[in-house]
Amino acid sequence: MPQHADIAIIGAGAAGLAAGIFAAETNPNLRIILLDSAKSIGAKILVSGGGRCNVTNQRVTASDFHGNRKVIDRILRRFDEQATVRWFDSLGVLLQTEVTGKLFPVSNKARTILDSLLQRCEALGVSLLTQHHVRDITREGDEFSIQHSRGTLRAKRVILATGGQSLPKTGSDGSGWALAQQLGHLVQPTYPALVPLLLDPSFFHATLSGISHDVMLTTTIAGKTIDRRTGSLLWTHFGISGPVVLDASRFWVRAAAQGEDVHLHLNCFPQISSQDMEKWLLQAASLPGRKTILTLLAERLPTRVATTLANVQKPGLTHTPVNLLSKETRRHLVHTLTNLPLPVIGSRGWNFAEVTSGGVPLEEVYAQSMGSRLVPGLYVIGEMLECDGLIGGFNFQWAWATGYLAGSHAAVQFPSSD
Ligand SMILES: Cc1cc2nc3c(=O)[nH]c(=O)nc-3n(C[C@H](O)[C@H](O)[C@H](O)COP(=O)(O)OP(=O)(O)OC[C@H]3O[C@@H](n4cnc5c(N)ncnc54)[C@H](O)[C@@H]3O)c2cc1C
Repeated sequence: MPQHADIAIIGAGAAGLAAGIFAAETNPNLRIILLDSAKSIGAKILVSGGGRCNVTNQRVTASDFHGNRKVIDRILRRFDEQATVRWFDSLGVLLQTEVTGKLFPVSNKARTILDSLLQRCEALGVSLLTQHHVRDITREGDEFSIQHSRGTLRAKRVILATGGQSLPKTGSDGSGWALAQQLGHLVQPTYPALVPLLLDPSFFHATLSGISHDVMLTTTIAGKTIDRRTGSLLWTHFGISGPVVLDASRFWVRAAAQGEDVHLHLNCFPQISSQDMEKWLLQAASLPGRKTILTLLAERLPTRVATTLANVQKPGLTHTPVNLLSKETRRHLVHTLTNLPLPVIGSRGWNFAEVTSGGVPLEEVYAQSMGSRLVPGLYVIGEMLECDGLIGGFNFQWAWATGYLAGSHAAVQFPSSD
């Protein structure tokens, strides 16, 4: 005999848990069941923000996301960052804002966030079924029939919240998109985003492993700039990481996958133009004291980075007094320091990506409810959708906001139970 639910939520990650809570708070009489393939719930919440869970940001706007920003804006306005703070407060979790604008639980433990969500689900009588992998969903009359690894569930409303494909070992393996497709939705090609990038092993990155500094990264396709951003870059044994790289990665990854002529350029002096940089070198050359190139560059760059970049330009250049630089070498040095091509050979892939770009088009859902425009009674939320945010708590804000809209909407004007 199949089980019955008023609302079945497929996937109990951030978005699914939020949807379950808001649905139950909106209509406490409903039977709400969350099904998740994972053995234990919330693995991604627990690893997030380095185990601290960056819940949201002090300022969230549509420009912090990639996707249809008109739709994203309408969704975010209905449940904004202040709503997130109030909501967690109501769940007994205080959040604190860091200088970067990121909000974390005061406990600094992601576990606090997960526990608060699970406790609220329990208090509201929301059922949580783990190790229930959903394989098939079909619409039969005015109900959905959900085939999962332990049988069948029938439900009047279905909220799809199966996440993206990042960190698949957490249970978010991308299988949910097949369910959306089965029900008639389109799924735009998906790519890892917020992902570290691999550089050609013959490049110098490994020698700088562990060093981070502020840079500007520019991504070009066939010579045309498609993205430019500044922030902290971390050199690693495999290539580059850090916030600016993670935010830029989606552009390189998508373009490379589409066979585009994509390049990434590094500017280690984002705060000054290359003309001002040249002036700086000339000025230093005219001063008494004869600083070496290394001494000069190390005033503004970590010493190891300064040494490496000067030596890339010309072995031994570091020890050259700045006044002995030829015009040509000075120009080349400025170019290396402000426009160095990075030999990107790929990304670290799904196991190291924080989110997914691509997914179910936002145009296929109503922004006021996250309800499907194609299938009555169906909702699509969270990372499954074609929307990916920057580093900084934006992706969780997206999960809470879309979970709120779907949960509270699916639970109103409910047909009376038979
Ligand atoms: C390492 C890491 C760190 C991160 N840190 C942050 C951060 O600090 N701040 C931030 O804003 N974002 C962060 N993110 C991104 C954020 O975690 C995600 O965007 C967010 O969790 C997405 O929520 P979701 O509910 O849509 O999907 P998920 O959290 O991925 O949940 C989907 C759930 O669906 C289940 N599922 C999948 N398929 C099926 C199926 N067929 N049947 C049943 N169940 C299924 C999965 O088991 C999973 O539990 C991080 C991501 C990673 C990987």
